Amino acid sequence: LSERLNSAWSALKDEDDLSVENISLPLKDIRRALLEADVSLPVVRRFIKSVEEKSIGVKVTKGVSASQQLTKVVADELCELMGGFGGDKLIFRKEGEGPTVILMAGLQGVGKTTACGKLALFLKAQGKQSLLVATDVYRPAAIDQLKKLGEQIDVPVFELGTDFSPPDIARSGVEKAKLENFDVVIVDTAGRLQVDEMLMAELLATKAATRADETLLVVDAMTGQEAASLTAAFNDAVGITGAVLTKMDGDTRGGAALSVREVSGKPIKFIGSGEKLDALEPFFPERMTTRILGMGDVVSLVERAQVAVKEEQANLMRDKILSATFDFNDFLSQLEMMGKMGGMGGLTKMMPGMNTMSDKELQDAEKSLSVAKSLIMSMTPRERQFPDLLVAGSSAASRRGRVVEGSGRSDKDLANLIVMFGSMRVKMQSLSAQMNGTAKEVGLV
Ligand code: GDP
Ligand code: MG
Repeated sequence: LSERLNSAWSALKDEDDLSVENISLPLKDIRRALLEADVSLPVVRRFIKSVEEKSIGVKVTKGVSASQQLTKVVADELCELMGGFGGDKLIFRKEGEGPTVILMAGLQGVGKTTACGKLALFLKAQGKQSLLVATDVYRPAAIDQLKKLGEQIDVPVFELGTDFSPPDIARSGVEKAKLENFDVVIVDTAGRLQVDEMLMAELLATKAATRADETLLVVDAMTGQEAASLTAAFNDAVGITGAVLTKMDGDTRGGAALSVREVSGKPIKFIGSGEKLDALEPFFPERMTTRILGMGDVVSLVERAQVAVKEEQANLMRDKILSATFDFNDFLSQLEMMGKMGGMGGLTKMMPGMNTMSDKELQDAEKSLSVAKSLIMSMTPRERQFPDLLVAGSSAASRRGRVVEGSGRSDKDLANLIVMFGSMRVKMQSLSAQMNGTAKEVGLV
């Protein structure tokens, strides 16, 4: 996939901005690539559309190619799509509310029974004691299978043979767990080769009988295109709270992850990556993104380049300070940088010797950011360059009046800005003297 993208995207080489024209070809390729990774067609369509919306107009960071930049947008979007739901966090009942009930649902052979054992072991490592409940009454071998897994990890298995209905068995299991103070009940259910009404009705009844906290859809990562319709069927009929993606150790790109997530809106909580019981991992959207796209290096390159550009701006500002020609233009570009970099705090941390402003000063400064910006925008270039024009001289008052009117702010706002700017400039100048001194000391100038 990444090879294909690299070649098709070389067309994007020397562009400054991503635009409708220059991304259309690469996006066609992404589309094909996602389909090859087994993401379902409607999901791919929606995804491409949103990448399109997000990438048009994006500036290409210095030092990276436009195609790499687009890759970053695609990767971020994928990551956002698959994450942002608190990841693997299971919903546990509060103390005193009885055991948390987790229902494992899915088609036959996807790895439900195995996942039950894996999850019990995973929870055991967190100090939670589980009771496994066998409700696959259609295949006696499935009950034995769960019992064997339970023995391996020393977790008890509750079963009533094959003479009772799954909801009844599950209900009895939960009763037992309540009496014996288990933390979690994990219910293994039967699967069919295809989605059918019987399966769904039985699952729904089991869910109701156990008042399950989690209904996890177990999906084989090799499922491919059908992952989307499968997820929709289970989610519509039973209502899932998340998914477990199994057999990720196989030769699959994991496109099913994207389909499941997109179709159900529910998080993938775990991935299974082997037949052994310890082969269960929490789901990390970043890792899955890298797997689907196969281009982690490119993404981190773009990230590094973005950091470097920020540093470059900070260095420019430092030069300004060193030469002590600090005017409203610098002030404004500082404000803009602050917005981008998480506020005054983030900026001052990047500027050597500037972490001397008090928290109160920082807060006040941030509050007046937008006011300050609108005022400065209403100044003439000369006023921005020579701030004293607004304070001294015969035209100062009329200049101030014009700025206030043009910005829609008040006289007091402008007065505050001038005071803030003044104190900032004084700081800059003393800092400048200090830094020049230091620079001389260490022989830089
Ligand atoms: P069920 O019918 O949904 O309960 O599926 P099982 O738990 O019985 O698993 C079916 C087969 O898939 C078994 O041979 C498992 O060992 C295997 N299996 C389950 N999970 C994984 C996994 O994450 N990776 C691999 N390679 N095999 C798995
Ligand atoms: Mg099974």
